[in-house]
Order: sequence, then C-alpha cells, then structure tokens
Amino acid sequence: MDFRPTPRAQELLERLDAFLRERLEPREPQLLRELGAQRPEDGFAVPAPMEELKDAARDAGLWNLFLPEPADVPGVPEALAGPGLANAEYAILAERLGRSALASEICNCNAPDTGNMEVLLQFGSPEQQERWLAPLLRGEIRSAFCMTEPDVASSDATNMAATATIDGDEVVLNGTKWWSTGIGHPDCEVLIFMGLTDPTAHRHAQHSMVLVPRDAPGVTVERLLPTMGFLDAPGGHGRVRFDEVRVPLDHVIGTPGGAFGIAQARLGPGRVHHCMRLIGLAELALELACRRASARVAFGKPLANLGGNRERIADARMKIDQARLLVLHAAWLLDTQGLRGALSAVSQIKVVVPTMAQEVIDMAIQLHGGAGLSDETPLAGAWAIARALRLADGPDEVHRGVVARLELAPYRAEAGA
Ligand SMILES: Cc1cc2nc3c(=O)[nH]c(=O)nc-3n(C[C@H](O)[C@H](O)[C@H](O)COP(=O)(O)OP(=O)(O)OC[C@H]3O[C@@H](n4cnc5c(N)ncnc54)[C@H](O)[C@@H]3O)c2cc1C
Repeated sequence: MDFRPTPRAQELLERLDAFLRERLEPREPQLLRELGAQRPEDGFAVPAPMEELKDAARDAGLWNLFLPEPADVPGVPEALAGPGLANAEYAILAERLGRSALASEICNCNAPDTGNMEVLLQFGSPEQQERWLAPLLRGEIRSAFCMTEPDVASSDATNMAATATIDGDEVVLNGTKWWSTGIGHPDCEVLIFMGLTDPTAHRHAQHSMVLVPRDAPGVTVERLLPTMGFLDAPGGHGRVRFDEVRVPLDHVIGTPGGAFGIAQARLGPGRVHHCMRLIGLAELALELACRRASARVAFGKPLANLGGNRERIADARMKIDQARLLVLHAAWLLDTQGLRGALSAVSQIKVVVPTMAQEVIDMAIQLHGGAGLSDETPLAGAWAIARALRLADGPDEVHRGVVARLELAPYRAEAGA
C-alpha cells in the first residue's frame, strides 16, 4: 500500500482547497445562518450565492469528483463527467469537502445523490440514464433514497414492508418511508423507492428498487424531521407516504426483486465517502480546539495547560490519524479487490470513524465552554452529523456483526458449525 496522493489527486486537492478557502469559506457563516433560518412550511430554498458557487465549481472542473470512472452518458459533456478517480484518490478530496457543511453539494458530491447516481450508472437502463442520471450529473436536479420505514426495524433490510406490486405494465407503490434525505430540496425531482414485490421469493430476492418522480400522484411528504434539532436545509430528511403511486414497469431499476444486489453495490464507496468527510470534520474540530486552548486563559494559564487538556488534544490527533489510515486501507481494498475483499474493512470504518469524530468534536465543544454549544462555531452541528452517522447507513451494531461474522467464518467452518 502506498498512501501518497497520486499526482492528479494532489493537483485536484490543491485546486479544491484554494477554491473552498477563497470562494466558499468567507461566505459560509452567512449562508449557514440563512439556511438555518429556513422553515420547512415555507419550503427550503438554495441561496443564490450557493448556485453561483456551483457554477464556479463546474467551470473549475471540481465537479462529480466521486465518480470511479468518467460517466459516459449522453447529454453529459466530458467536462462534467468527472475525473474518474479511484476510491483512495477521491478519499483525500472527500476529507477536504467534509470540513464544510456545504462544499459537497457545491461540487455535486453530496449524499444521497452520489449513491443514487452510482446506482443509475451501474444498473440504470439507457432511458433511465437519459431521463434522471444526465440531469443529476449536470447538477440540475436532486434525488432521495427511500428505504427506511418507521414501522419496521430497518437496519434489517429484509424487513422492508412497503410494497412495490407489479400490475401489468405498471408498478404500484404503497407504504410509509422516513429519513429520506434530500426530499426537502427544491430541486429534488426523483426518488429511489425500495419495496416488497414478491414475499414468496428468497429473502434477498423479494424487494425491488423503483424510480419515482417526486411529483407523482400519491407521493406526500408528511413532514421534515430534524436531526437533533437541525433541519439540514436545503435537503432535509422527510417522512414520505406513498398511496397507490403508479409508475410504468420500466421505472424498476435492474430487475424486479433485484434491490439487494443494488443496495450492496451502492453502499461500499458511499461509506468511504461518509467516513473521509467525517475525518475532515474531526480535523476542523481539533484545529478549533487547539486555537481556543492556546488563546483563552483561565486560572492564569492557557486552557491547553490546564487539567488533562494536552492529553485530550494528543489523543484526538492519534485517533484521527489512526482512523484516516483505516479508511485509506478500506478504500485501497475496494480499489484492488472490489467490495467482496473490502467487506470487513468497510464495516470497520463505519464503526470506528463516526465514534472517533463524535469524541473529538465533543472534546472541542468542551474546550469552547458555552460557545461550543451555540451557533457561534460549527461544532454543535458537526457533533449531530457524527452522532447521526452512527445510525445512518446501518447502526454500529450491524457493522460489528459483519466484522465478527467474517472473522469467525473460518473457525466456524473448522468446527463444522
Ligand atoms: C441523518 C440520517 C439520515 C438518513 N438518511 C437515510 C436515507 O437517505 N434513506 C434511508 O432509507 N434511510 C436513511 N436513514 C435511516 C437509517 O439508515 C436508519 O435509521 C438505520 O438503518 C437504522 O434503522 P432504524 O432506525 O429502523 O433502527 P432499528 O433497525 O430499529 O434499530 C434500532 C437499534 O437496534 C439495535 N440493533 C439493530 N440491529 C442490531 C444487531 N444486529 N445487533 C445489535 N443491535 C442491533 C441498534 O442499537 C440499533 O440502533 C437516515 C438516518 C439518519 C439518522
């Protein structure tokens, strides 16, 4: 393994860093205040400077950086098709994007659009790609992924009870989903719905993924859910009802019953992206903590020299560096061995990184005193993001279960279990 950035990743990192430092960061506090003041009942809006920044990122070639190979899709000019970076190359860019709450959307690299675009690229028909993928890649529309349901334990995807029933040349969708990220975005035009098609099939062949226009009759966003008080405008997270929603059969992605294979493929790179963004956020928190601890004085000394604060800062540095190496290792395995070879590593990072980020950000909040809990710093929002990622894309326990299963497999075989 060689963790030095490749020349093209290094060149992109330098340009991305300069773009975000010079163009986004001076405007970010005001943009975040504006977004934080938006109320869902009025509908979310994208502030005009954010749209200008998206245009600038597009023009600068800092666009669709997450795509593992340039997207060859009609209607998507070469300049917007992405540089085609390996996971290990994109990981360092995702870390840079993660320092900011807005940078990922500005560079068209935000979840869940990234995962949804990957699904359409890998499994979508030419018609689905033309209708939905091309405008997503151009950043003209946004999307949501509707799997989790309020009424069943959704960490077990075989539990999903909302239905996608095939009726002649149509699919009929019924049920309630929640935590559908991005559904509040004013540009959200397409949803990927996961529903039960054939309860008699093998448990991993019962569900289908179906493309649903956001404005299809029968789709109702009941309300937007705050994450520990944060509404996360402009995308938000919604509770969505599907009542007798009818779409043509050709809106099924892949084949009916094929949802599990698609979900698996969607989540490997997505977890590396989430984890590297969190490492960027943890780095920001440590930087803020060090500034505060050096500049603020209590009991005649800088905060850094009081109690166990030096040890806490040292621990934070060690935890971040360990976590980064673990994620780069998972990305390298994905690049060299595919998802199968990276299965344990991807679950390991999904447990280690959000917990690490939560601890580092919590330490930074504590060093900031009351300011750490206010909106004067990005720390409270950062903590909520890290905490949420211990659940989103599967809770810690499920990922520990995967790591343990793979670890035990040879011994169970040896013991004839
Ligand atoms: C901010 C945010 C964004 C999200 N975005 C999306 C999205 O865009 N689309 C979407 O479909 N979903 C999304 N989710 C939903 C998320 O993926 C689910 O919340 C998660 O998978 C857990 O499902 P659940 O909430 O039904 O918890 P449950 O399945 O009810 O689990 C609850 C708890 O039970 C315990 N548990 C479960 N399984 C095990 C096990 N095997 N061993 C031990 N303990 C276990 C764990 O403590 C777990 O936290 C999002 C969630 C959040 C918080």
